[in-house]
Amino acid sequence: MTDFDVINPATEKVVETVRLASAEETDAAVARAARAFQVWRSVAPGDRARLLRAFAAAVDAHAGELAALEVANAGHPVGQARWEAGNVRDVLTYYAAAPERQFGRQIPVPGGLDVTFAEPLGVVGVIVPWNFPMPVLAWGVAPALAAGNAVIVKPAELTPLTALRIGELALAAGLPEGVLQILPGAGPVAGARLVGHPDVRKIVFTGSTRVGTQIMAAAGRQVKRVTLELGGKSANIVFADADLERAAATAPYAVFDNAGQDCCARSRILVERTAYDRFMELLEPAVQNVVVGDPADPHTEVGPLISAAHRDKVAAYVPEEAVAFRGTAPDGPGFWFPPTVLATSAYEDLPAWHEEVFGPVVTVVPFDDEADAVRIANDTPYGLAGSIWTRDLSRGIRMARGVEAGNLSVNSHSSVRYWTPFGGFKQSGLGRELGPDALDAFTETKNVFIATD
Ligand code: NAD
Repeated sequence: MTDFDVINPATEKVVETVRLASAEETDAAVARAARAFQVWRSVAPGDRARLLRAFAAAVDAHAGELAALEVANAGHPVGQARWEAGNVRDVLTYYAAAPERQFGRQIPVPGGLDVTFAEPLGVVGVIVPWNFPMPVLAWGVAPALAAGNAVIVKPAELTPLTALRIGELALAAGLPEGVLQILPGAGPVAGARLVGHPDVRKIVFTGSTRVGTQIMAAAGRQVKRVTLELGGKSANIVFADADLERAAATAPYAVFDNAGQDCCARSRILVERTAYDRFMELLEPAVQNVVVGDPADPHTEVGPLISAAHRDKVAAYVPEEAVAFRGTAPDGPGFWFPPTVLATSAYEDLPAWHEEVFGPVVTVVPFDDEADAVRIANDTPYGLAGSIWTRDLSRGIRMARGVEAGNLSVNSHSSVRYWTPFGGFKQSGLGRELGPDALDAFTETKNVFIATD
């Protein structure tokens, strides 16, 4: 057991000190969850639904408080943090409709009656990153609980505060003790223990591809189920026939939102060569107008990076000679970094072009035609999201089919709706969260044959 100082990234002050769970405490949480699972699985579907709705209502009633906690803990702008608390409520409400609608099947067979059941898995571990602590928690927790599982959430070391409060709200709403536990802990200690524990039947992991591959390998040793939501290097593809004003006005938010700490960040902008100069002319003022500053101020659009170490990592991706232009950022204290646009003919030599920077840094490159755009967009091990800007809808559809990514948008940068599936191709992940099918990832199909002859 160790103590961990949670820092406000906008002020560098300690917000709270949180105890990190040891491996033994993690084992104890798993034992509690295994007991709670036996209670929760036998709660009648209508009661499970009612409890999830009460949980959603409790989150809603405390949305302002949760948002303020996220402003202080993750440096998220307050408007964004309000949206995030609302997303937790919405995702819980959406999956609260599931327990009463989870049907098995009856398939005709000779000599008897054959029935399939959707059985809960048991104890599910949800391992959450620091960039979107509230939504990512909800996307794992809500369908897992709705399907009848007990859940242990391990928040990121840097951002446990909203998770801890959401855990209290679940209890206050009437969820039985142990059905949802929040276990702050270090990744290699509590996180790794959840992955290695034989009584944890599934891991939902959102985080880096580096840790995701370790988790998949460790889970493989027990044939443990995994859902993985990993990194991204998404493309924003702008054709010359697009509404260039809109494309340029929105492009900064598609990558600099959440200070670029977004798995769906469109960190590669591809612009058709004939429109490149015009697009850059439009992009420069749009980037300079991004409001970076105090996350508690409702006018702020972008807050600080999460930590000093992360800011150093982001800064190392920016060679001065490749910078086309920058936005603004406050001076310290706080882990600030200005929105930064890179443009160079030697872009393929830039680590920022290939790797997930996870900061407010974007590279802009020209392309010649559709085939060239698809080739460049797919030249990455990642495949999470992407945008296509064109007035030619047929081209938009061709491009959306050609880009290897799980979430594409045409003339928009939208990636996430809680009622449609979300997840990655290639090294961006495995499985899908959200939408109607996410429940399947939290159940096991059981087939029962009853002889009648
Ligand atoms: P990270 O991989 O460092 O950590 C994520 C979580 O895993 C943390 O809770 C951490 O404590 C835990 N962890 C670390 N080592 C572990 C281990 N050995 N065993 C078990 N758990 C371990 O990621 P991060 O830096 O917190 O988050 C940033 C990454 O998350 C980025 O790569 C981003 O793209 C990705 N991300 C992906 C999505 C998505 O939906 N695809 C969403 C948000 C973030």
